[in-house]
Amino acid sequence: MHEPPYSLGKIRTPHGTIRTPALIPVIATSYGIWDKWINGEFTAPWELAQSAILSLYHVLQYGRKDEVLQKGIHDVLHTKNPIWMDSGGFQYMKKGAELEPLDVLHYQELSGCDIGVTFDYPITPSLDNDEKLGRLKRSVEAANLMLSHNKEMKLYGAIHGSTPNEIEEYSTNLDSGFDGYAVGSLVPRKSQYVHLIDIIHASRNTTNSPLHAFGITGFPALYALSYLGVDTFDSWTYVVAAAYKEYIHPEKLTRVKNLKTLSSLPECNCSICQEYGLMDFLQPTSEGEILLALHNLNIFLQEMKNIREAMEENELESYIVQKGKVGNRNINIAFKLAQKKEKEGKEIIHHTGT
Ligand SMILES: [Zn+2]
Repeated sequence: MHEPPYSLGKIRTPHGTIRTPALIPVIATSYGIWDKWINGEFTAPWELAQSAILSLYHVLQYGRKDEVLQKGIHDVLHTKNPIWMDSGGFQYMKKGAELEPLDVLHYQELSGCDIGVTFDYPITPSLDNDEKLGRLKRSVEAANLMLSHNKEMKLYGAIHGSTPNEIEEYSTNLDSGFDGYAVGSLVPRKSQYVHLIDIIHASRNTTNSPLHAFGITGFPALYALSYLGVDTFDSWTYVVAAAYKEYIHPEKLTRVKNLKTLSSLPECNCSICQEYGLMDFLQPTSEGEILLALHNLNIFLQEMKNIREAMEENELESYIVQKGKVGNRNINIAFKLAQKKEKEGKEIIHHTGT
């Protein structure tokens, strides 16, 4: 009998259980949106979804930083849901700045987040080999250092690598004891499915613990990586698309652009579209952007629910094929690559007899 590469799972945290695979929306701090959500003016993403993720980089720049570190992130967000705190390594890389790994751990502990991710030094395709290997080594050292000082928080080890071999070697150098692993450095090449699938497949093969994929932008990757056994994804596409006034089509899952030129939107049954419509989304205010972001997030969350239900029925493959027929053609492209990779992996295991 063919064993599927994926399975339904549960991640237990002090603030409840996350049913996987799950999309963890990124809480972005831009445009004053964050405060309107915190003030309860609109349903917050961290209430719509099972959980949400913040970057420590954004928290440390935030006006309520002290409040977060004194009262805890759950108190500031007024939520009882699990909250993740990424180290901000990706944002610090872009700014050319760094934090001390043990300071990151300390901030994460003070924030009371449920799951923290180790500080990392992401890599990009443009780095020369020495610099790349140096950054991978430092990411491993930071992860092991944080693990050795961590007390009770769930800690995910960040994983990086530009090839499957680098991923394997990196994983071998990590100490044991992490609660899960988070694969990074995927963002700069996000549209290259071959690379994405190679790296995720290699990462999945190094561990049975929960696996998180950073910075996933669209449905083709969500389907393909769910199929390959990724447990959680973070994404801020819902809010980025809204900033560009793009509406995610509820059926085709494509981004509907130029809303201004439309007379109506495709029908949507989500909680936002029951109350609001095109004219509300087009308001040139943060309200318009928030409502559009919430519609977009609803579509992502509904699809993750559909994926979990299809897994439960043992019908994920046919579900993805069917979604590929109605809209975004990259769904098929990414899924075929994932299936091919999975099949090759099985043949290698078969031939080596392990
Ligand atoms: Zn909607």
